[in-house]
Amino acid sequence: MSTAVLQARGVRKSFGHTEVLAGIDLDVEPGETVVVLGPSGSGKSTFLRCVNLLESLDAGRITVDGRDVGYDVRNGRLHELPPNELARRRRDIGMVFQQFNLFPHMTALENVIEAPVGVKGERRAEAVDRAVALLAQVGLAGREKAYPRQLSGGQQQRVAIARALAMQPKLMLFDEPTSALDPELVGEVLVTMRDLATAGLTMVVVTHEISFAREAADRVVFMDAGQVVEQGRPEQVIDDPQHERTRAFLSRFL
Ligand code: ADP
Ligand code: MG
Repeated sequence: MSTAVLQARGVRKSFGHTEVLAGIDLDVEPGETVVVLGPSGSGKSTFLRCVNLLESLDAGRITVDGRDVGYDVRNGRLHELPPNELARRRRDIGMVFQQFNLFPHMTALENVIEAPVGVKGERRAEAVDRAVALLAQVGLAGREKAYPRQLSGGQQQRVAIARALAMQPKLMLFDEPTSALDPELVGEVLVTMRDLATAGLTMVVVTHEISFAREAADRVVFMDAGQVVEQGRPEQVIDDPQHERTRAFLSRFL
């Protein structure tokens, strides 16, 4: 039996006549950090959205922690699952987006405890203890009572990471988490993510930050036109790409 936290097999997805995912196979092992690189429009976000049950599949299969993430395997449809079942299956997966989407009327701490208390029914005191620890882990000790508008973009994104971690997910997905940040705030978020990778979190990170891929990734996956073109150790894929499409993409960053 596979030990993979995430296993994707033959994942296909079209929007209208456009095939956006043309058969994705990907395994992510426990504790692994996989960085996904690829040009805009190559299907990276769509793939993460399929993993997180925000999109249905046209074909193929995705399991998280050995369990089907919720598609009806015969037709790939999501909507046949009752909403509470969908929510239950999503809990194992944390997601951080380009836009942090914090609740503006809640403090950092309240943002972090909202799902554990509101969705999971955790005791408030317990959730608060863990939220304080998580905020410290992302470098925000002492900022528990700050509202999003009082925090920089980098700090808000770190609250969003703590909020996702608060549900104790088995898998964390990051979709260009630093793309909306001012350049001087990118580093602090990447440091937080690198620390999480080092601590053994299982992560899939879509990013254009090649230096992060080099330092933090166990494996780099290059996607183009809805396919995994090549994958391997960061130094292999980044410094010695085997495919012309990978070379063409990486040449933009030199
Ligand atoms: P990436 O994240 O790699 O930039 P996306 O997964 O966002 O790529 O998009 C891949 C392609 O799918 C793009 O051509 C995009 O326009 C298209 N696409 C994404 N979402 C939708 C949607 N909901 N409806 C129609 N087309 C979409
Ligand atoms: Mg995207």
